[in-house]
Amino acid sequence: MISVEEAVGLILSHVSPLPGEEIPILSARGRVLMQDVRASRNVPPFANSAMDGFAVRWADVAQASETSPVTLKVLEDVPAGYVAKHRVKEGTAIRIMTGAPVPGGADAIIRVEYTKSLNVRVRVTRSDGKGTHIRNAGEDIRKAQVILERGKLLTSADIGLLASVGKSRVRVHRKPTVAVISTGDELLNVDDPPKPGKIVNSNSYTLSASVEEAGAVPKVLGIVRDKRKNLAVAFKRALRCDAVVVSGGVSVGDYDFVKEALADVGVKMQFWKVAQRPGQPMAFGHARKIPVFGLPGNPVSSALSFFLYTRPALLKMMGRRNLFSPVIQATLDHEIKSPRGLKELIRCCLREEGGRCFVSSTGTQSSGVLRSMSLAQGLIVAREEETLLETGSQVSVILLNHHDLLKGEMGF
Ligand code: AMP
Ligand code: MG
Repeated sequence: MISVEEAVGLILSHVSPLPGEEIPILSARGRVLMQDVRASRNVPPFANSAMDGFAVRWADVAQASETSPVTLKVLEDVPAGYVAKHRVKEGTAIRIMTGAPVPGGADAIIRVEYTKSLNVRVRVTRSDGKGTHIRNAGEDIRKAQVILERGKLLTSADIGLLASVGKSRVRVHRKPTVAVISTGDELLNVDDPPKPGKIVNSNSYTLSASVEEAGAVPKVLGIVRDKRKNLAVAFKRALRCDAVVVSGGVSVGDYDFVKEALADVGVKMQFWKVAQRPGQPMAFGHARKIPVFGLPGNPVSSALSFFLYTRPALLKMMGRRNLFSPVIQATLDHEIKSPRGLKELIRCCLREEGGRCFVSSTGTQSSGVLRSMSLAQGLIVAREEETLLETGSQVSVILLNHHDLLKGEMGF
């Protein structure tokens, strides 16, 4: 039996980032860039007005005030998207809209609030200074500048940034396809009528959704009966994907043939037991570069083992650098007993009070109770040597679904 840390280390040492593909930027959010992106143009591409107002020569209006306004002749109007036909010469101005190119000869924009239009003239009563309200060419991005570095996880702002420099396609790591198989003679499909001795296969659903949550592509291959031959046939098919997730059949029961069947199709097993609770039976192997995760059948254990082992591996395959969830410290509301020699992960809920974070268990920790996983906001970690976590002590909590953990506020 190996430790959780050793198991994670072994798994990660057997997976590498997948090769790249070039995709349209509209599909690239959440993907990891494989190359530095340089701007092929300046942004903004030309000096333009940041205000609705008048383009002028600063020298003409520097002294303008309420008591001694300056009157200029208006040569034309330039809306955004058009270029002025005239240059601004001494004693003249061009009416300009936000985003329109600054006409030749102008070196300041007077905002419309400081002016009064008089037919073909404008009266200027104030100015903000030379060069004001002009967004210079290349002020945001200079041509040839690296705007996004290799390894960057692309956000919505990055997608816009790429568009702003005219880059419509990018090279990113490919998403792994992940075969999801559930094993067990007791399993029914979700729409099957209930039958004596049978239960619904929930693991395929949890695991498929978990694959998707990690950003990878699930291929649900359905239920396979507890027969070595059937399992081997299914695994052979599954090995066409980039990774394989199997639930059930990995412990020591008389009908647990998963390890043997994986060996039959050439999967080299690395380990099949981890010093943790829940989820002690947990097998990992690989066939060439394809990682194979033999998760426990118990619904909580399989979800949890996916989170601890499969998810970081899939993230690494997608080129991600940050593979693990945040861990916080919280004050324990009640004592928890834990077995020596196993790392125990206790499903828990968090609560904030007076700027401090408190944590309590979700209740029964039986690995068959999927609802405990549904309620859980995190996992309290009881380390191998710890047999009692005392009320009021500080404990480590691995955050689950951390994006939806804290109650938001409008904040302004
Ligand atoms: P196993 O690991 O195959 O011994 O299964 C352990 C427990 O998990 C048994 O109670 C199974 O009925 C249950 N189980 C196994 N596979 C699934 C599944 N796909 N969905 C729900 N429960 C399952
Ligand atoms: Mg089984």
